[in-house]
Amino acid sequence: MTRLVDVLVIGGGQAGLAAGYYLRRAGADFAILDAQDHPGGAWRHAWPSLRLFSPAQYSSLPGRMMPTPPGGGYPSAADTVAYLTDYERRYDLPVIRPVKAHAVRRGDERLTVETDAGTWRARIVISATGTWWRPYVPHYPGIRDFQGEQLHTAGYRGPEPFRGRRVLIVGGANSAAQILAEVSTVADTTWATLRPPRLLPDDIDGRALFALATRRMRGGGGIGDLGDIVAVPPVREARDRGVLKAEPMFSRITPEGVSWPDGTGLACDVIIWCTGFRPALGHLAPLRLREPGGLIATEGTRAVGEPRLHLLGYGDWTGPASATLIGAARTARETVKDVVSQLA
Ligand code: FAD
Repeated sequence: MTRLVDVLVIGGGQAGLAAGYYLRRAGADFAILDAQDHPGGAWRHAWPSLRLFSPAQYSSLPGRMMPTPPGGGYPSAADTVAYLTDYERRYDLPVIRPVKAHAVRRGDERLTVETDAGTWRARIVISATGTWWRPYVPHYPGIRDFQGEQLHTAGYRGPEPFRGRRVLIVGGANSAAQILAEVSTVADTTWATLRPPRLLPDDIDGRALFALATRRMRGGGGIGDLGDIVAVPPVREARDRGVLKAEPMFSRITPEGVSWPDGTGLACDVIIWCTGFRPALGHLAPLRLREPGGLIATEGTRAVGEPRLHLLGYGDWTGPASATLIGAARTARETVKDVVSQLA
């Protein structure tokens, strides 16, 4: 069966919902396809102790503020899932799930979207599929020979499985610091980073990161000179315990652990790769828009090589901090403005 719609949003996480809010307000004919059974996007899969790095009022989508969690503090992943679930219902957003888009192709006047539940044809497609679905692990010689356990941030659920073990945590950003903070309470940890990690001052949180991303987009500098890692309370506590000391990156993985170019080695039982994610753009492959770096050139969020396609929520390249709740919200407003003008 083929269905026609003016605007098809692929992905029903925070970015897709923010687009839906503005499309609804604009009176557009649209649908949102989401591959998951339930609302919440990537937040459904984050580890339970994860806390946002901004207060609720700075982590909200348009129209409805995220409630401050009972007892105060920054919201958890579960609070965020509850908020997105309520948001979708409150604005009666037309999310169809579970539907996974496999391929977006050029048709004559419309883009054709092939899914596991039939075909859609749309005048405009907004791709908002996030990054969680493409965990990135860098290649190191010997990686396949390691006899211990390896996992990525995406598979981390909490510190308990690592109790009493020797754990190497790799990566210099927020997830590494947060995971290290809690794993170090039950395990013997080592932290390896490409560059010396830099903690932001205690009074700077995600609000300032958003301002920084906006300034960078406009060609300015910002708090980037101060650091990269938000000092959320567990990270501060780990810093005060003295466990946030990082080693430079190793050059090789051995069956028992890792080794550095000067010949020193470290034995470990577990490697946790907190090495980030890449945009989930596989469904766009038939459009052949990817540049050598793997990203798609955009003007605003519109793909330069296919103006009927918008990319929303993947990172700064698709809008200032657009892979955060507040950034996705602001970018979605501009995207829908552009989409409405295209439809007209
Ligand atoms: P997602 O949440 O991934 O949603 C995309 C949706 O699209 C999913 O439901 C997925 O199933 C679906 N989908 C994917 N492919 C297809 C397809 N082919 N067809 C149909 N559906 C598809 N941000 C903050 O604002 N504050 C924070 O404190 C914060 N902390 C973070 C901590 C960690 C560890 C991580 C990883 C991220 C954090 N972020 C934070 C960043 C950000 O908010 C999330 O990455 C966010 O989930 C991105 O939302 P999204 O809607 O773009 O993508």
